Amino acid sequence: MTDIAEAATAELQLGLPWRNSFAALGPAFYTELQPTALPAPYAVCTNRRLAAEIGLDASLVSSQEGVEAFTGNRPIEGARPLASVYSGHQFGVWAGQLGDGRAILLGEVQTPAGPQELQLKGSGLTPYSRMGDGRAVLRSSIREFLGSEAMWGLGIPTTRALCVTGSDARVRREEIETAAVVTRVAPSFIRFGHFEHFSARDQHAELAKLADYVIDRFYPECRTTQKFAGNAYAAFLEQVSERTAAMVAQWQAVGFCHGVMNTDNMSILGLTIDYGPFQFLDAFDPGHICNHSDEQGRYAYNKQPNVAYWNLFCLGQALLPLIGDQELALAALESFKAAFPRELESRMRAKLGLGGAQPGDRELIEDVLKLLAKDRVDYTIFWRRLSHLAAGASAEPVRDLFLEREAFDAWSIQYLARLDTEGRSAAAELMLKSNPKYVLRNHLGELAIRQAKLKDYSQVEALLALVQAPFDEHPAHEDKAGFPPDWASHIEISCSS
Ligand code: AMP
Ligand code: MG
Repeated sequence: MTDIAEAATAELQLGLPWRNSFAALGPAFYTELQPTALPAPYAVCTNRRLAAEIGLDASLVSSQEGVEAFTGNRPIEGARPLASVYSGHQFGVWAGQLGDGRAILLGEVQTPAGPQELQLKGSGLTPYSRMGDGRAVLRSSIREFLGSEAMWGLGIPTTRALCVTGSDARVRREEIETAAVVTRVAPSFIRFGHFEHFSARDQHAELAKLADYVIDRFYPECRTTQKFAGNAYAAFLEQVSERTAAMVAQWQAVGFCHGVMNTDNMSILGLTIDYGPFQFLDAFDPGHICNHSDEQGRYAYNKQPNVAYWNLFCLGQALLPLIGDQELALAALESFKAAFPRELESRMRAKLGLGGAQPGDRELIEDVLKLLAKDRVDYTIFWRRLSHLAAGASAEPVRDLFLEREAFDAWSIQYLARLDTEGRSAAAELMLKSNPKYVLRNHLGELAIRQAKLKDYSQVEALLALVQAPFDEHPAHEDKAGFPPDWASHIEISCSS
């Protein structure tokens, strides 16, 4: 980058105590470095809700000093910036060392919501940038900001986003775009790939140190388990498998496609992480591929559960030197196979408003998904309209979504009879809390990004408010709950970000 950016020297005080436990692991795990300043940064959007949850003053975040600090232009008192090293499997192939190529961990703050790490994404080159420029563009930063908050609003485990800042600095992608930095917040950004890194290099002491750190902080029950002959590392693998199963089940139920489920994009805490070419489904197409660069469809919507298991298998392989027994590792991984269908069924039951399990429930779920796929029915609108039907509204708005109305009628007769065994009002209540009215559809993000490129961030703000409360009615934004326009299906989202 040719722009000359001057960094401010006075440290910003956030008013939160820092702890930096990841930094305490030692230099084998990262490189300490400062972010690279961007010229004349400005606020794009601030997540006031998250700021309040973690005890930060939102006006400090969006102040000039805050913008400078969260762009990487001004140091923050107590932070200890670093880029961590990891490796991973990308598109099914071992890719070797990757690492934080454009992310810089500022450190860990103690907040009313527990310890949280703050990380800048797009804040300049690191030793792990490989061919990249260390930057992120405004478009992808807004997508990550809104996408992660949309998942949070839906109750799906995810990293979060505190703010986006921008700069007019030019960044070359398919075309010239401008730079932005998104500040991410999570209890930890450790990925499966961190474990793969040390395992692949036979650095077993570091592998154990990393696993012990994660177990002690996030999975302490693994220390006292009787399962797996008291093997804490096998219990850890089981817990991660269960959390991952629960996360992916929620993705499937809400129609979320991640797009790049490489092992370096899998959180060890079972959080949705690294929002790139993700998409919430419009029409229900089980084979939908949201990542334009994914020519084989490895990460298609209906492949996500199997890919999650494949990724867990890589994690199991990486942990094998610690577990010490292949049979135990395989037994731990088995938990995914039980947890995923259980979690998915429970989510789908809620979407249908079904309480206690009854024979035939599974068929009701399978049959409706077949109907949705056959007629490529809009996934979000279908479930929301079905919730209103359960609440006593006419069947027409749901029926009208189908080409084959007789097939829907046959299914709905069975379904409504099933609902009547428990009472429709309780069902409707559950459904309206399980079937969002608003999801961050591609075209909504795209329209907000177009405005943001003109420095009008009002649509980003509006979408943030909607996706943070997606089950509520927002009468002023009825248009954003409607069908996508025709051009939405032509939006091409690739890995370029
Ligand atoms: P992703 O699949 O986007 O999560 O990224 C895979 C790897 O490429 C990670 O190590 C990233 O840090 C790195 N990377 C992606 N984009 C850039 C960039 N513009 N500059 C430097 N590193 C990047
Ligand atoms: Mg990544």
